Amino acid sequence: MHINDIFARSPTTFSFEFFPPKTAETSEALYEHIIHLATLKPSFVSVTYGAGGSTRDLTHNLVVRLKTTSNLDPTPHLTCVCHSEAEITQILERYATAGVSNILALGGDPPRDLKGYDRSKDAFQHAADLVAHVRKFNDRRVHPDGRGFGIGVAGFPEGHPATPNRLVEMDHLKAKVDAGADYICTQLFFDNRDFYDFRERCELAGVRVPIIAGIMPITSGQNLRRMADLAAGARFPAALLRSIERCNDDAEAIRRVGAHWATEQCRGLLDHHVRGIHFYTLNRSDATRQIYQSLGLRDSEAVRR
Ligand SMILES: Cc1cc2nc3c(=O)[nH]c(=O)nc-3n(C[C@H](O)[C@H](O)[C@H](O)COP(=O)(O)OP(=O)(O)OC[C@H]3O[C@@H](n4cnc5c(N)ncnc54)[C@H](O)[C@@H]3O)c2cc1C
Repeated sequence: MHINDIFARSPTTFSFEFFPPKTAETSEALYEHIIHLATLKPSFVSVTYGAGGSTRDLTHNLVVRLKTTSNLDPTPHLTCVCHSEAEITQILERYATAGVSNILALGGDPPRDLKGYDRSKDAFQHAADLVAHVRKFNDRRVHPDGRGFGIGVAGFPEGHPATPNRLVEMDHLKAKVDAGADYICTQLFFDNRDFYDFRERCELAGVRVPIIAGIMPITSGQNLRRMADLAAGARFPAALLRSIERCNDDAEAIRRVGAHWATEQCRGLLDHHVRGIHFYTLNRSDATRQIYQSLGLRDSEAVRR
């Protein structure tokens, strides 16, 4: 379903993010896992896109499989990095043929194993260029939905490390929306004040598309470290770190603290009329399920303002 229809149907959207596993067995396990999560009736699910060639096919395969065999609405991530214009067009054609409704258009980071990768070889330097290309693709009217793909872009409540000037960064975000993005999904954050302030700054800058808040329940000390690395620049509030320290490496206690923190974040966001919550599940669903229960949610359409 086109993202604009999803927003029209749900005052608050709930979505889950997965990354494609590398092997056939783990792919199968993840597929089963995602299907199990379908009972929570998420508004959509999204599948990340890696920098390497083979993992890129895994994204496509998982998205098309979910689209054709489940009632979930999968949104593939797509990045500018390491792609020619023809490749991007071909990917869009494949997704259009499969009836995929929405795309998350991203800059992407240069692959870690390709040290000194020269981005100037990429057809699109920034996500705004990719958004413009998807819009142009939409104008060709080859997508079964006459409007073409709904388009999401990334937003960074605490700022993106590559642009320390926050005013300039907001100009870049606005450029993505002006190029045709329908919504923004944010990087994870642990202090809602960062999100509320970001939302206000968007409003002041005239960025007026729905903003979905990215939430990652911490499930282990290891996953905390991994996130600090992947979401470079994300702030870990002292109160959260203290709570985790008090767990003394007790895995179950850390999981409970992480789920509690994320639940409180979600409760605050719902009270502040957030347009959507996107769970970075890291391919595990127990925390997300627990948060749903603690919030009294049955499914995404159960939320009323
Ligand atoms: C919700 C979400 C999902 C993600 N999923 C993936 C994924 O699946 N795969 C993946 O590889 N990465 C993913 N990422 C990470 C993301 O690709 C990186 O953080 C990337 O560095 C920024 O992406 P972007 O789309 O914001 O890029 P851009 O909008 O291109 O911005 C990247 C940087 O360039 C700056 N910039 C933008 N336009 C200009 C301009 N015209 N001139 C100069 N500077 C400019 C921006 O301010 C920013 O600092 C995701 C991030 C988020 C928040």
